[in-house]
Amino acid sequence: MCVKTADCLNHLAPYLFAQIDKKRDALRDRGIDVISLGIGDPDMPTPSHIVEAMVEAVKNPRNHQYPDYAGSLAYRRACATWMNERFGVGLDPLNEVLALIGSKEGIAHLHTAVVNPGDYVLAPSIGYPVYSGGATLQNAHTFFMPMRAEDGFLADFSAIPEDVISKARIMFIGYPNNPTGAIATEEYFDRAIAFCLEHGILLAHDNAYCDICFDGYRAPSILERPHAKECCIEFFSLSKSYNMTGWRIGFACGNAEAITALGTVKNNLDSGQFTAIQDAAIVALSGPQDCVEDMCRLYQRRRDLVVDALRAIGVECLAPKATIYVWTKVPAGETSESFATKLLEQAHVIVTPGNGYGPDGEGFIRISLTTPDDALLEAVRRIKESM
Ligand SMILES: *Cc1c(COP(=O)(O)O)cnc(C)c1O
Repeated sequence: MCVKTADCLNHLAPYLFAQIDKKRDALRDRGIDVISLGIGDPDMPTPSHIVEAMVEAVKNPRNHQYPDYAGSLAYRRACATWMNERFGVGLDPLNEVLALIGSKEGIAHLHTAVVNPGDYVLAPSIGYPVYSGGATLQNAHTFFMPMRAEDGFLADFSAIPEDVISKARIMFIGYPNNPTGAIATEEYFDRAIAFCLEHGILLAHDNAYCDICFDGYRAPSILERPHAKECCIEFFSLSKSYNMTGWRIGFACGNAEAITALGTVKNNLDSGQFTAIQDAAIVALSGPQDCVEDMCRLYQRRRDLVVDALRAIGVECLAPKATIYVWTKVPAGETSESFATKLLEQAHVIVTPGNGYGPDGEGFIRISLTTPDDALLEAVRRIKESM
C-alpha cells in the first residue's frame, strides 16, 4: 500500500456493532421488519419556532460570511444568560463561553488542547466513546475509572495508580449519564472537584442530558459547586434538549484557561459554526421552553413502557430519572452480545450491547427511547412474546 495512515488510527476501539449490523442486514434482506432501539437520536422534529428562526436567519446576508470563530457574541451571551437562569451560574460570555459545532466536536478537540502524547486521560469505564477515542487520536493513554451498579454508576477515581494520576490531564464524567441513565449527587461532584484540584487535572463534565429529566428531577450544572471554575469545563448540547442533532450546535463553558486553550485549537482547525444556526440556537435557548417539557413527558411515558416490558420478562432494571436510555442487566448466562443477538434474531429488535461503551459495560444492554410510539409498542410486544 502506498498510502501510509497514522498509527493511532489502528489503536481506535473496533466497531463492536459490526456483527449485529450484519445480522440486521441479513434479516432485512429476507424482508423481515427490524425495529431499532439502538440509536440515541431524537425521532421528533426540531420545534417549529426554532425552524422558523432559522429560515429568517438564512436570509440575512450578514450570516453568509465567515462566523466569529468563538461564536457570535449574541450566541455566547444567550448561553451565559441560559446558564444563569437555569443553574444560577454566572459566566463571562467573552472568556468563559465558547460555541461548538456540536458538543462532540468540543469534547474531541479538548484532548488536543490539553493532552500531550503519552499522557493519561481518565474516562469512565462505561461512557461516550469520544472520551477515550480523542485520547487515542492524540497518542495518549486512557485509564478507565470503574463504574459499578452498587455505586450508582458514579465513576470511581479513588483507586487510580499514582503513576497514572501524575500523567493525567483530563478527567471526563457526565451525569445524567449516557448510557447508564445514572445521575450524580452534589457530594460526588464536590469529591471529583477536590480530586482534580489536588492533582492539577482538568475536570470535563459532559451535560448533554441536563434537560431530559423525569419524575420532577432537575439535573444540576457542575459549575454550581464551590471552586468548580478553578478546574472545570462543562459541555452543553442543543441536540437532545431541542431535537437538533443534525444542526451541530452546542457550547463549552467554565474555566477561562481551558476555554481559551480549546478556542486556540479550534481557531486552527475550523472557522466556527454557521451564524444562522447560532441565531436559531439563541431562539431555542431564550424562547419558550414548553417544547422541552413536552419531550420529557414523551420520553417518561416511553421509559415506563420499556421498564414494564422488561420486568414482565424477568429482566431486572431501574427506571432512570433522566436521559433517553434504559440501561439494564442481561439475564443470567448471557453476555451483552449474546443477549442483543437473541433479541435481534428472536424478536427482531435491535438494542445496543453495553460492552461497546467500555469494559464495565459488559453484561448490560442499552435501549433507546427515541423510537416512535407505535414502533416502540410493537418492539415491546415482540420482546414479551419471544422471551
Ligand atoms: C449526544 C451526546 C452528546 C452530544 O453530542 P452533539 O455533538 O452535541 O450532538 C455529548 N455527549 C454525550 C454523552 C451524548 O450522548
